[in-house]
Amino acid sequence: MKEKGILIVISGFSGAGKGTLMKKLLQTYDNYALSISMTTRQPREGERDGVEYFFRTKEQFEENISKDGFIEYACYCGNYYGTPKKYVEEQLEAGKDVILEIEIQGALKVKEQFPESLLLFVTPPTAAELQRRLVGRGTETEEVISNRLARASEESEGIEAYDYIVINDDLDVCVKELHALVDASRRAPVRRKEFIKEIREELKGFAKGAE
Ligand code: 5GP
Repeated sequence: MKEKGILIVISGFSGAGKGTLMKKLLQTYDNYALSISMTTRQPREGERDGVEYFFRTKEQFEENISKDGFIEYACYCGNYYGTPKKYVEEQLEAGKDVILEIEIQGALKVKEQFPESLLLFVTPPTAAELQRRLVGRGTETEEVISNRLARASEESEGIEAYDYIVINDDLDVCVKELHALVDASRRAPVRRKEFIKEIREELKGFAKGAE
């Protein structure tokens, strides 16, 4: 009996430290597989095609939409971002817990299609800390930063759609907390369908014997 993996959606304001968190989570535990999204935004310095994202043109992205190649896609600050379907399906089947690091519109679409998915929202402890991290990253222009802060304000309206909030103050603590939440959610009946089916069948067998 093998349960499918959990589909985990992780969202959070741009600058919440999701990238670093994901890296550490994947280094520390071996049950996770991280989905690589496709995007039309330009690579940042040091980003590589096929590692952080699949960087594609708008035309290539739209072709993939028409082929039904995405689980979800959304427009964020003027660029397309989407989750390719095939990898996610394969990894879930193989029992891996698949992480989608996506923004809120995409998260809601995933929840609609996969009600048993787990939605986690990562945030820094304060808004001032978010601004400090965005400026400190030094990869974005002032305009992009203010755009992203405005977007964060909009996104904060949707936090209640998530199952849990995780505050990223100390990286190691946050990684442990994320893992603990995933582990606990594995025990929810909606994610133990195979186990429930099997024990019911066995019990029926015993019940027959007692007739
Ligand atoms: P960034 O440009 O900072 O890498 O990402 C911008 C936003 O897009 C982040 O909130 C990130 O989580 C989100 N994002 C990345 N990949 C996807 C995706 O495949 N689908 C959706 N809906 N959002 C994504």
